[in-house]
Amino acid sequence: MSIADNVARVRERISAAAQRTRRHPDDIELMAVTKTVSAEWIRETYGSGIRLFGENRVQEFEGKQAGVRELSDARWHMIGHLQTNKAGRATELFACVESVDSLRLAQKLNSAAAAIGKTLPILIEINIGGEGSKGGIAPGSENLEHLLEAAPALSQLRLQGLMSVPPYNDDPELARFYFRQMRELSDEIRSRNLAAVKMDVLSMGMSHDFEIAIQEGATRVRVGTAIFGEREVVRGKN
Ligand SMILES: *Cc1c(COP(=O)(O)O)cnc(C)c1O
Repeated sequence: MSIADNVARVRERISAAAQRTRRHPDDIELMAVTKTVSAEWIRETYGSGIRLFGENRVQEFEGKQAGVRELSDARWHMIGHLQTNKAGRATELFACVESVDSLRLAQKLNSAAAAIGKTLPILIEINIGGEGSKGGIAPGSENLEHLLEAAPALSQLRLQGLMSVPPYNDDPELARFYFRQMRELSDEIRSRNLAAVKMDVLSMGMSHDFEIAIQEGATRVRVGTAIFGEREVVRGKN
């Protein structure tokens, strides 16, 4: 199976899942997650029509940058845990940070974006399963409220929505509950009409569960393994 075949198959699965719930396939963005994937494979993925890519580590992406620079209309999103001391570099490198999990990080990104005159879209990462090993803000927490309230002051950032990695289970049906909770949280925040807070993006669903995520309202799915094959990583940790 080539990368192009895998991408085509993922796109078919996205379409089928969307149609089952009367959603339009175009309303679901496909992100290729390229952690541990070489620049050569990334160029091949681009060749199959993908324009949205996700990376987990600032340093890993920096190492590949020279090999992907020619892909001028590719968009790169940061989806892994970001330490505040890397906020400056991440602001330069990425078109969006989906893994904002504290007000402090948001403030660092805001200052870094101001320094280079950039407007930076962000998502808030929600730890929907309450797992100690994972990043993200707890739903219903004060930390989440503080971040939402601060949005108007973070003038270089654009808060577009939420991102989540629910607890891993071999049976993807068991993720449905968490995806639904994410959708409800997003709807609830949207209904409050907070200043500078948009809830247009719901980034959730990975290789083994993206169809369920789409049925529950995902607007962006982040897919690695189904495009590139298995990686040598510990499941459940990100
Ligand atoms: C690795 C990763 C993905 C993709 O996971 P696959 O199971 O390989 O599709 C999606 N989101 C995040 C945050 C990741 O770290």
